Amino acid sequence: MSPSNHGFSTRAIHAGQEPDPRTGAVVPAIYQTSTYKQDGVGGLREGYEYSRSANPTRTALEQCIAELEGGARGFAFASGLAAEDAILRGLLRPGDHMIIPTDAYGGTFRLVDKIVKPWGVDYSLAKVAHADAIRGEIRPGVTKLVWVETPTNPLLGIADIAAIAAIAHEAGALLVVDNTFASSYLQQPLSLGADIVIHSTTKYAGGHSDVVGGAVVVAEHVAVPEFEDAAERIGFHQNGLGAVSGPMDSWLVLRGLKTLALRMERHCDNAERIVQLLQSRQDVTNIYYPGLDSHPGHDVAARQMKRFGGMVSFQLAGGEQHAVDAIGRTELWILGESLGGVESLIEHPGRMTHASVAGTELEVPGDLIRLSVGIEDAEDLVADLEQALG
Ligand SMILES: *Cc1c(COP(=O)(O)O)cnc(C)c1O
Repeated sequence: MSPSNHGFSTRAIHAGQEPDPRTGAVVPAIYQTSTYKQDGVGGLREGYEYSRSANPTRTALEQCIAELEGGARGFAFASGLAAEDAILRGLLRPGDHMIIPTDAYGGTFRLVDKIVKPWGVDYSLAKVAHADAIRGEIRPGVTKLVWVETPTNPLLGIADIAAIAAIAHEAGALLVVDNTFASSYLQQPLSLGADIVIHSTTKYAGGHSDVVGGAVVVAEHVAVPEFEDAAERIGFHQNGLGAVSGPMDSWLVLRGLKTLALRMERHCDNAERIVQLLQSRQDVTNIYYPGLDSHPGHDVAARQMKRFGGMVSFQLAGGEQHAVDAIGRTELWILGESLGGVESLIEHPGRMTHASVAGTELEVPGDLIRLSVGIEDAEDLVADLEQALG
């Protein structure tokens, strides 16, 4: 079987996951082991030596996610941020410069600002919805990496991956895309010219709010010669730092991926229904959803995404306290951080996920509400949200 010729769902279910040759077990085993018997000193079976270096359940996940993103190599980590660290400190060196979005995920900004920068890598912020803003921040010969998230959190900004890849490569810099919000199903950054994709598999990839994990996929051909060995360097960092995905966590993400396509279609269906509800209400002053014609990134999103995803943000007339009160009144929508699970979540970015960026360039409006639209029955989600908004 050569899974790479198959469609997305076939790969999601089969890539890296041949039935067990000994027992025929259809589902990969959870190899809950730290070490492996050697057949004589150095006689490793299929290269397995110690589970920080490699574990068969993690290998299955790494092969699966690489095939889903159309890349050459996949790496699974203990969290999305551990995956990001492996890219940044695996590839950059003190003295290098990188560019990140003004509205990057808060944890990404914290990693870059508080850990990678003190280590010696400088960064600039750019509004990635305007590709030219990135060109303006390039420092020739020094900028080695451009980091992009699309759609962004929580304002659903859209970055033009192909345009930014061209700008980065012209400057001799790599393009890394955080594909967490879109998922591998809705968006394939490597096919648009990105060199590396990163996911928080905690979100849509895992999809059931029961695991924290991260993944990196490196393209077959990295466009910058200096980084030809990017996959080896990330692999070295993964083993050298050791923030690996454990066997049970790898298994949960593998299981989640099998239904990714189905779940994403339903997330999108339900999000569209919720957007219709919001559009019908006088008290909703602004809706952030790339599927709307009025969204400034709509055309780019339509070009590079299969559909527009399950995340919706909106502003509510009546001010911050009114938004906070409405969020507190939902019964079905669960008030909580994170996103991408089967259950619908509602949150107040200003006081929750984005509280740490208050007073900075990244501050979000106080009357903003963010929804991670789940896969429940749409009528129930609509009814509960209407009830909460009053
Ligand atoms: C959650 C998230 C991360 C960080 O992932 P963890 O698994 O929480 O470490 C990175 N990027 C985006 C877009 C996220 O939503």
